[in-house]
Amino acid sequence: MTDYDVVVAGAGTGGATTAYTIAKNGKSVLLIDRKERNKIGDKTCGDALGSHHIQELRNLVGLPEVPQDIVEHEVNGIDLIAPDREHRLRMQGSTTTGMSFNRLKMGQWFISLAEKAGAELMPSTRAKRPIIQNGTVAGIKVLDSDGHEQDITASIVVDATGATGMLRRQLPQSTPIERTLNKEDKMVAWRDIYETPNYTFETPDILEIFWNQEETLGGYTWVFPQGEHRVNVGAGVMTIEGHRNPQNIMKEFVKPNWDFMQTDYEVIDSRGGVAPIRRPIDTMVDDNFMLVGDAACQVNPIHGGGIGSSLLGGALAGLTAVKALESRDTSISGLWEYNPRYMEMYGSKQASLDVFRWFLLNVTNEEINFAFERKIIKASDLLDTSMTGDMKIGMGEKFRRLVSGIGKLPLLLRVSKIANLMQEIREVYSEYPRDPSGLDKWKMRLGPIYKQAKAV
Ligand SMILES: Cc1cc2nc3c(=O)[nH]c(=O)nc-3n(C[C@H](O)[C@H](O)[C@H](O)COP(=O)(O)OP(=O)(O)OC[C@H]3O[C@@H](n4cnc5c(N)ncnc54)[C@H](O)[C@@H]3O)c2cc1C
Repeated sequence: MTDYDVVVAGAGTGGATTAYTIAKNGKSVLLIDRKERNKIGDKTCGDALGSHHIQELRNLVGLPEVPQDIVEHEVNGIDLIAPDREHRLRMQGSTTTGMSFNRLKMGQWFISLAEKAGAELMPSTRAKRPIIQNGTVAGIKVLDSDGHEQDITASIVVDATGATGMLRRQLPQSTPIERTLNKEDKMVAWRDIYETPNYTFETPDILEIFWNQEETLGGYTWVFPQGEHRVNVGAGVMTIEGHRNPQNIMKEFVKPNWDFMQTDYEVIDSRGGVAPIRRPIDTMVDDNFMLVGDAACQVNPIHGGGIGSSLLGGALAGLTAVKALESRDTSISGLWEYNPRYMEMYGSKQASLDVFRWFLLNVTNEEINFAFERKIIKASDLLDTSMTGDMKIGMGEKFRRLVSGIGKLPLLLRVSKIANLMQEIREVYSEYPRDPSGLDKWKMRLGPIYKQAKAV
């Protein structure tokens, strides 16, 4: 007999959604977080979310509408800006409509939903390591708010501890789950929030992303207004060998070059953060164990957005856990269904964008400026690519645009090559194994695609 059906470590958006889904379906679930209750949700973030994610969760698990007091401002589009800052592409559509929001209030709302559905919350409690019995996970060893160690047992343990993947990292060596991540599969960022009483953001409903390979290699600078006199601004880079410190990028690049930084602004918050930016972990389940959110690498590898996908991961993990509990099979086979469902709904797109990420790393500022200037890149293409993970190069209008850039033929050939590799990895994901026995063979198909992508 275990203490709970499920124990979820980490009450961020991923963990809270998992607990909400499980409790709503009548199972007992404990949600623990190392933060004090009133701090849960307070984290380094760009604070932007597409409304389509909320809609998707409503359809899947009946998530209610986001309360208005959480929303700082509506978002109606995203501008992608070339390194020369003269050319920009405005992406507007159902996927770029959403909100900038108060991160703490958003987190508090998610834990209140989980609690209302019947989940038990244990704040100020740190998950130390998984309890392993007979080689499989049987619970979590925690340090409670009084500093006492406790063992909490459950039929299923969910690691939703965010980018640290605290439990994942301590699984037994025999697990098929990748326990550690490569450095270059993470991004590190610095993020500030300012009040700008003497500066007015003219289009507070448009988020701005500035691309510059010399300043923010493998990442970008963002300026996300949260109203006419408030902004969330930051810079992030991929953590490849010799990467810049993002706090220095803020000091040396952002501060001297943006108008609002020349006014008297008030710093509301200022801190760093890390996120995984790769395909999802190849199997997000093992016997009695599941991964959700950043711990499962469910983040968009290009823009680093991971709230929506952590909600999706949480809902799908929760639904699968309920089914496994009902059929009394919480083994890797009983929990497997979570993998193909997530891969089909989002993981395959993540993998395709992960391949694209390696290509972007090798593009120069000059090439990006050229592509923007000649309109070789169109906003609708980018929207398509970011939404579906597909980049289609056909013989019609796109072909004519490519020919118009004939002066940069090598770049265009590289674009075409990477589009093919993105398609190839989508095909591999469409054949994601239906049970654990096919995992090793399937994984072997990924390596050669990445190898080629890194060389394009
Ligand atoms: C700089 C930056 C900007 C971003 N901007 C955006 C954005 O604008 N939009 C977007 O969609 N995404 C954004 N993201 C990504 C997004 O924040 C994450 O993908 C998302 O929060 C993941 O949710 P999660 O629940 O998996 O993890 P988290 O939200 O990180 O939650 C993990 C929880 O686990 C708890 N925890 C950790 N360790 C333990 C432990 N040992 N024991 C108990 N509890 C523990 C933490 O306290 C935390 O509450 C950004 C990320 C960064 C770093």
